[in-house]
Amino acid sequence: MPETPEELFARAKDALRIPPLEEWEPWPFEGDVRPKTLFAPTAAEPPREGVGGVDCWACDAPDAEFLWTSERWRIASTREPPGLPVIVVLFPRTHYAEPGDLTEKLAAELGVMIGRVERAVRSVGEIGRVHVCRLGDGSEHLHWWFIARPARFPQLRTNLVSIWDDVLPPLPEEIWRENLAAVTAALRSA
Ligand SMILES: [Zn+2]
Repeated sequence: MPETPEELFARAKDALRIPPLEEWEPWPFEGDVRPKTLFAPTAAEPPREGVGGVDCWACDAPDAEFLWTSERWRIASTREPPGLPVIVVLFPRTHYAEPGDLTEKLAAELGVMIGRVERAVRSVGEIGRVHVCRLGDGSEHLHWWFIARPARFPQLRTNLVSIWDDVLPPLPEEIWRENLAAVTAALRSA
């Protein structure tokens, strides 16, 4: 039997830990921290945005709002310059919630698309690694993040890179536009 949320809460709420942050090179902050209070589990899963494709941005947005589109896939960038060199997000054009919900044909194509987008982001240059992840709970429409870690910054090489994105100052607009143009050009020639 899996542990219920109530059982997890009862076991964990007074036993939260502080990891050895001083030993974590990628941890972006200095100073003491303490864990927040762990909130009790909700009565039900809170709904994600765009459930079932209703009021779903990724379904409703016109192609013009995307960086690149094809018959079955669309790629968006962040709306504002990120701190990292490039962040783009891959969506299937049709509303699916989970990777396991994709048809086998689309799932196979997703593998090809992940490779194409990763190569396109890496082609910008001065990229140490492109982190590829399906992460978070905000919006239901399936989407994959491609997060570029700048070259020769090993301090940014873990999942904490997404916090570093908010710690680094935003990219100058011109560099951001050039980087996105390089991604788009690479996708068009792929
Ligand atoms: Zn959708």
